[in-house]
Amino acid sequence: MQDITGKAVFGGIAIGPIHVYQKKAHEIRDTRVEDPEQEFARFEEAVEKAKEELQVLYDKAVSEVGEENAAVFEVHQMMLEDDDYLESVEGMIKDDSYNAEYAVRNTAEEFAEMFAAMDDEYMQARASDVRDVSSRVIKILSGAEETGISGDRPVILLAEDLAPSETVQLDKSKILSFVTRLGSANSHTSILARTMNIPALIGVDFPEGLEGKPGIVDGFSGTLIVEPDEAHLKHYQDLLLKEQERKKLLEELKGKENRTKGGREIKLFANIGSVKDVDSVINNDAGGIGLFRSEFLYLESSDFPTEEQQFKAYRTVAEKMEGKKVIIRTLDIGADKSCDYFGLDKEENPALGYRAIRICLDRQDIFKTQLRALYRAAAFGNIAIMFPMIISVDEVREIKKITEEVKASLKEEGTEYGEAELGIMVETPAAALLSDALAAEVDFFSIGTNDLTQYTLAIDRQNAKLDRFNDTHHPAVLKAIEMTVENGHNHGIWVGICGELAADTSLTDTFLKMGVDELSVSPSRVLSVREAVRNSDIY
Ligand code: PEP
Ligand code: MG
Repeated sequence: MQDITGKAVFGGIAIGPIHVYQKKAHEIRDTRVEDPEQEFARFEEAVEKAKEELQVLYDKAVSEVGEENAAVFEVHQMMLEDDDYLESVEGMIKDDSYNAEYAVRNTAEEFAEMFAAMDDEYMQARASDVRDVSSRVIKILSGAEETGISGDRPVILLAEDLAPSETVQLDKSKILSFVTRLGSANSHTSILARTMNIPALIGVDFPEGLEGKPGIVDGFSGTLIVEPDEAHLKHYQDLLLKEQERKKLLEELKGKENRTKGGREIKLFANIGSVKDVDSVINNDAGGIGLFRSEFLYLESSDFPTEEQQFKAYRTVAEKMEGKKVIIRTLDIGADKSCDYFGLDKEENPALGYRAIRICLDRQDIFKTQLRALYRAAAFGNIAIMFPMIISVDEVREIKKITEEVKASLKEEGTEYGEAELGIMVETPAAALLSDALAAEVDFFSIGTNDLTQYTLAIDRQNAKLDRFNDTHHPAVLKAIEMTVENGHNHGIWVGICGELAADTSLTDTFLKMGVDELSVSPSRVLSVREAVRNSDIY
C-alpha cells in the first residue's frame, strides 16, 4: 500500500482502478522502413480503425448535441476517404519508404497549408480538420490510443494536468475522480470535478507504473491510496456509504425554499459548461442558470461554431429551463482556455492578455455571430447575456452599441429574436472599483470570484505552487464583493456571485449579510448551499 498526499479541490471518496492519462503529443521521427508494402498495410489498418472511432463519435455526438454539431466527424471520415490525401501518404511510404506516422504528418501539413491558403472561408477552416483527423491516425499508428478511457469500469483518472480541451473529450461517465500532478484549485479541471460532483486532487506527485492498480481517492484529506490493504478498503467503503447517505438527506431539500430561519431569501442558480449539464441543473433543483460558460461550445469544436449551432445550443438550454433565467456569458476564450483555430499568439502573461471581451471587441465578426445566436434564442426562453473581463465603462458602452446593431439587423431581416437583460461579470479589480459607474449601465452584476481573487491578490489561479498564498477569504476580496453589492443596489440592480466562492458554505452567512441576491454554484453544490441558507439566522 502507498499513500500520496496532494490537495483536495473537491471532497468525496472514490474507489476503483487507476488509469493514467497520457498527453497526446507524439514526437514523430522520420525513419525509413524496410518493407514499405507492410508499412502501407499498417497505415490502411489505422485508417479503418480511425473511421470506426469517428463513427462511434458521430453517433454519440448526434444523440448529445444534434446532427449539425456532429457533422464535423462526418467531414473527418470523408477526409480519410479522399483520394488525393490517401495517394500522398501512399507515395511517401511506397516510393520513399517513409514510416507511416511521418507520411501522415507530412501530408496533413501539406494539405492544411493548401486549405489555409484558399480564398474561401469554409475551405480555410478545413485546415484544422485535416490536422485533427491525421492526429487521430497517428495516435492509432503509434499505439497511443489507450490514452482515452477504454473498458467499461469507471476509473480514477491520473494525469499530469488536463487542459479544458482535453477534459471535454473525456467520457465523464467513466471517471470516478480526477488526480493531477499540476493544476490548481481554481483550474477548470477542478471546476469540472465540482460540476460532476466527484472527488478531485491536485498537486499529487504520483510515481510511474500505477496503470490498472486499485486505488482510493480521499477527497477530504487529499490522499491517493494505491493498492489499499483490507483495513483501509473497508474503512473507505464505509465512508462511501455514509457519503451516499448524506447525499440522500440533501435530496430531501429538493423543492424547498432558499430561505433563512430569519426569513431572508436568496436565489440559488447553477453554473454550466455545456448543454449536457442542464440535466444536472434540473436534477439538483437550481432556480436558474447563473453562468453558462459559452466558450466550451468553442472548445468542443474544431472550428468556430456557426450562428446556427450556437442558436440551437442556447435555445435548447432556454427551453429545457422552462422560463427560468439562463445567464449566458459571451465567449471567454484565452488564458488557460485556448483554441487552436483562433490562431492566438503565445503570450508572456496570458491571464493578463488577449482574452474574453478583448478578443470579442477586436473580432466583431465572432462577437456578432454569438450575439445574433443569443438574441434569436432569447425568443424561446428567459435568456440574459453577460460579458466577461470588463474593466471600463467605455467597453460596456461599446458592447451595448454592438448589441443594438445586432438587434437592428435581425429586425431588418425579419428574423425572430427576443429581448435579454444585459449584465457584466465583476471579476477585475477595475470593475469592482468602478462598480458605481458600471451599475448605471447594466441590468445586473455577477461577481466572478475566481478571477477577482486572482487579479486582486496577484496570484495566478493556474499555479499550484501559490495555493498556500491563495487565501480565498482574503479581506481585500470580501471588501471588493461588499462594495460591488452596495454599488449595485444603490443603482437598483441585482448582484450575484458565480465564482467558486459562492459555494463556500462557511461564507454563506457573510454573503447573506452583504445582501447578495443570487449565488450560482456547480449543480452538485446547490443542495448543500440550500442547506446552509436554511440553517442561517440572517434576516
Ligand atoms: C470567475 O472568474 O469567477 C468565473 C466565474 O469565470 P471563469 O472561472 O470561467 O473564469
Ligand atoms: Mg473569470
